[in-house]
Amino acid sequence: MAQTEKRQCSSCGTAGMVYGHRTIERNFEGTVIAVPEVEGWFCTSCGELEFETKESAERFFEQVVVLQQQERSRQAAELQAIRKRLKLTQRQAAELFGGGANAFSEYERGATRPSRSTVMLMQLLDHHPELLQELRSTKPQRGDAEARRR
Ligand SMILES: [Zn+2]
Repeated sequence: MAQTEKRQCSSCGTAGMVYGHRTIERNFEGTVIAVPEVEGWFCTSCGELEFETKESAERFFEQVVVLQQQERSRQAAELQAIRKRLKLTQRQAAELFGGGANAFSEYERGATRPSRSTVMLMQLLDHHPELLQELRSTKPQRGDAEARRR
């Protein structure tokens, strides 16, 4: 049976590849996404994955794309939910966090991705909304930017 066979790993060279089904985890923009029931050869030594057929490879990459899209939608929805909890309009949020006047409209539609620091700051404010007042009072004024340019 194929399950008891071992194959040499093309990545690390040990003869420790076994056939089976596993959950494969991939890091996607700081989040771990898990693809369940991936069929193929797995290296017990270095973790390398090899596919038996082109179809199983394609199926895996299709699942990855679907999960990435779900993760993007989840992040966009989370950002919108936090902004609403902070009682900020999209425009006010953009004034505070930068990125241009339409930044939050674009983030929440999934048209563009916010920077990791923007996401982290939003999450921080979600847990400590009292810090929003402080952030607003230290917001750079137009005059400051002009003064710096001189
Ligand atoms: Zn290996």
